[in-house]
Amino acid sequence: MTHVWVTGASGRMGRALIESAYLTEGVSLFGASVRRTSSLIGVDVGELIGHGTLGVAVTDALPAATISQGAVIDFTTREATLNHLAWCVDQRCPIVIGTTGFTPDEERVIAKAAESIAVVYAPNFSVGVNVVLDLLDRAARVLGDTVDIEVLEAHHRHKVDAPSGTALAMGQAVAGALGRDLDRVAVYGREGHTGARPRDQIGFATVRAGDIVGEHTVLFAADGERVEITHKASDRRTFADGAVRAAAWAVNQSPGLYTMRQVLGLD
Ligand code: NAD
Repeated sequence: MTHVWVTGASGRMGRALIESAYLTEGVSLFGASVRRTSSLIGVDVGELIGHGTLGVAVTDALPAATISQGAVIDFTTREATLNHLAWCVDQRCPIVIGTTGFTPDEERVIAKAAESIAVVYAPNFSVGVNVVLDLLDRAARVLGDTVDIEVLEAHHRHKVDAPSGTALAMGQAVAGALGRDLDRVAVYGREGHTGARPRDQIGFATVRAGDIVGEHTVLFAADGERVEITHKASDRRTFADGAVRAAAWAVNQSPGLYTMRQVLGLD
């Protein structure tokens, strides 16, 4: 049995993670926490997901002692995640990180922590997106420099970072397959007199609207034909189920920085 602790329990992903942990066989919800100022402290987690009473009360922090045969699952904010990560390092507890938008310096902090604990860190925990990353690699290698490549993504109005971590991972997949340096060839939005598009450019376009859970399309456009590879998430449970699967996997791993691809055995 894997014990999971969900941080940010009141968030959109927090609630989906609680539901997923509750419904997944072989996993038990050990606890859940929210920020110190939350009005939900002491409330039964079941109430957060409309399942009645589950016998686990929401707390204002991670537990005082470690979680045996367990892992923390964290989809919160950059600052909160780094605090939770420090607790995991102190307690030698694996962590699954879904938060996006970290700076390169913050990613180095995550990599450093992974020297002493197992960390699964992925911009997207859905199985489908990780399969798409494989398809993108193949499409880019075959279509190569004969096409213009653009990454389009859409998310709900509350998302705070852009482009999405998944869009960046998709851009990285095609750039890597073509031997391009994404930092050099990426263009994030266009306006004004931009001039003609260089062939090696990889463009990103972002939509933020309504309650869109997450949609990504990579466009390979030639003269006369166009290939579009699209993934659409319609329910946050797809990310939550992947993260819970990653937690059950992480408790049996040595310290290291892992991706969802490794959890799925794709690498
Ligand atoms: P949200 O705003 O609904 O939830 C974030 C939660 O974190 C809030 O409930 C907030 O109160 C809580 N929080 C903030 N500071 C805290 C602290 N110090 N301690 C405890 N809790 C704290 O956001 P969301 O839509 O659930 O997304 C959360 C993150 O997950 C974002 O970075 C988003 O991009 C990412 N995300 C990743 C994936 C993936 O597959 N990797 C999928 C969906 C969302």
